[in-house]
Amino acid sequence: MHTPITLEALPGSDGGLPDAVDVVVVGGGIAGASALWHLAAAGVDALLLERGRVGGGATAAAVGILSPPVRQPYHEMAHHRGAETAARIWRFALDSVAALGTTLVEAGAGDAAELDLSGGTVLAESHSEHEVRASFEGLRQAGFPVRWMEASEVRAELRGRGFVGGFVVEGLGSIHPGATARALVKDAVKRGGAVREGVAVNAVEGSADGHLCRTDGGDVQARMVVYATHTDSRRFSALLGDEIVPVRGQALSARIVGDPPFHGAYATHWKLNVWRVTPDGRLAMSGWRHDAWDRAYWRTRPQVDPQLQDDLEAWFTEAFPELRLTDVSRWSGIFGWTADFLPMVGPLPGSTSELVISGFSGGGLPFAFGCGEVVAAIVTGAEPSPAAGLFNPRRFV
Ligand SMILES: Cc1cc2nc3c(=O)[nH]c(=O)nc-3n(C[C@H](O)[C@H](O)[C@H](O)COP(=O)(O)OP(=O)(O)OC[C@H]3O[C@@H](n4cnc5c(N)ncnc54)[C@H](O)[C@@H]3O)c2cc1C
Repeated sequence: MHTPITLEALPGSDGGLPDAVDVVVVGGGIAGASALWHLAAAGVDALLLERGRVGGGATAAAVGILSPPVRQPYHEMAHHRGAETAARIWRFALDSVAALGTTLVEAGAGDAAELDLSGGTVLAESHSEHEVRASFEGLRQAGFPVRWMEASEVRAELRGRGFVGGFVVEGLGSIHPGATARALVKDAVKRGGAVREGVAVNAVEGSADGHLCRTDGGDVQARMVVYATHTDSRRFSALLGDEIVPVRGQALSARIVGDPPFHGAYATHWKLNVWRVTPDGRLAMSGWRHDAWDRAYWRTRPQVDPQLQDDLEAWFTEAFPELRLTDVSRWSGIFGWTADFLPMVGPLPGSTSELVISGFSGGGLPFAFGCGEVVAAIVTGAEPSPAAGLFNPRRFV
């Protein structure tokens, strides 16, 4: 099994294709869903085309953890980019999550999306203590809502072994990724957006009025095109193919035997392992190993890796000896990484009418909704967020 869910078609997603729209969004993961939502909310005539099911790509493989939002530890980012830029990136992610939460609640989809923004915990083990403490200190000094937990407090809360402390980021937590993407698209449709599932875009050609999207359901003319195609973007742009590196991740879901004292969203070793307990009481967990690059890097197809799966499960059962996992289902998915861990959002270099929203480097869930807003701002000529320049694909040219 590669992904954990089988999805029904979204209502209204199987009609014929219009001849022309203002904007075509290609790809219906969390990125494309977020772009469509903001375009529809801004009154743009937008159509999302998804070759499979909305929320069924990498988004379906994700566990749903929102913290820490960026792969690079905060203190390292502040060291490399300056404290102000690091704070701007985190502020963007926190605002993105808050806006996503509000949108899901207003759409009546908070429960379906398993929205939990009660705080995300970043745990420290002895080998990661320095990075977690230094990141906490940087975040605290920058004024972010973080709260340190001493080792004794972590032990009392989690009853786990090997944790030497950690911190909670207030306002973060977890979501069900696929359900969130689908809820956003459903709400976008109510706001005038359109979606078609089971329609692959095979090529995008320049035309007098913009672009002709050649799909296996016919041609659609669009003034602008937004590529939310994640690791399958090479056919549209060599830059995206070269710069969004596929990395294979492993995940599992299991029934927990015992009484887990925790219910929220957790990450160790700055997102090496992440887990949450779903509303039906199951553990959803994913991870990968720093020392297994050769088994993960540039892997374009999901594949369950028994050894990495064993490592993942062993890590959990060693950390929580009072708990046992049964009824385990396993899957694998692909992350699209960029060299600087930040997404690519904005016009493709040399174009003003082809945009990209992709390359979230394992952090698509906290960033995508805010990035969808950036896309809509560019399309409508509004002022995008001040962080948007950091995500411009031009930085890789
Ligand atoms: C095991 C695992 C666990 C993860 N856990 C987390 C987590 O806890 N927290 C977190 O923030 N992130 C997590 N991630 C990362 C997260 O999944 C991604 O950052 C995010 O889902 C990327 O969303 P996306 O919309 O860019 O891509 P996708 O969800 O892959 O969406 C792209 C879509 O484009 C469609 N498409 C592609 N080409 C075409 C075409 N030519 N025509 C039409 N449609 C097309 C695909 O079918 C697909 O549905 C995890 C990833 C994996 C693999």
